[in-house]
Amino acid sequence: MDKEGNILEYLAIRYNVTDHIQAINYAYTDNLTGIANRNKFEEVIAYEFKQVKRYNYPLSLAILDIDHFKTFNDNFGHLIGDEVLVALAQSVKRYVRETDLFARWGGEEFVILLKNTDVERSVKVLEKFRVLIENIEHERAGSITASFGLTQYKEGDTLDSILQRADDALYQAKDAGRNCIRSII
Ligand code: GH3
Ligand code: MG
Ligand code: MG
Repeated sequence: MDKEGNILEYLAIRYNVTDHIQAINYAYTDNLTGIANRNKFEEVIAYEFKQVKRYNYPLSLAILDIDHFKTFNDNFGHLIGDEVLVALAQSVKRYVRETDLFARWGGEEFVILLKNTDVERSVKVLEKFRVLIENIEHERAGSITASFGLTQYKEGDTLDSILQRADDALYQAKDAGRNCIRSII
């Protein structure tokens, strides 16, 4: 092939790769908030399970759920609700360690995977997020709060069992009055 042919071939491959990367990013991104989506989370946690089984380091999982978000939407409208979801996601994302994963689970619920971090240390990290969130101020609608349910990987866990424990802890946080963190080990 001549030189021109080589360049064209190179460009075609480059475009294919770029398209492919864009398609993967699209499949792993939540389209409202721009953070990782549930697909991405499920893939990362499956991989992390393998790692912790092998290397035995701690792995924490938290569910973050906005408090009384239905009332917030009812009072200020769904569009402002959406703006607040984006603001929350972008603020928290800025403070999550690069090695950790912050993803939108769905609706007004998010998940945070804290690698190599036990529950005790995770409580301190989540406390920073809790304060960060209560300080987000929407110019018309004011502020929101969030509750956190936290747990840590234990032997024999499946995705369902660890999520169930985090969800039980979240229920305890809601029951305790919201805007707080509860953990179950
Ligand atoms: P709790 O403190 O017990 O979590 O109360 P809540 O009102 O947040 O919980 P509930 O599960 O009753 O309602 C969740 C609400 O979240 C329902 C819906 O109005 C809102 N919501 C879910 N997804 C979205 C979304 O993508 N955009 C907006 N604006 N609101 C959403
Ligand atoms: Mg909820
Ligand atoms: Mg809620």
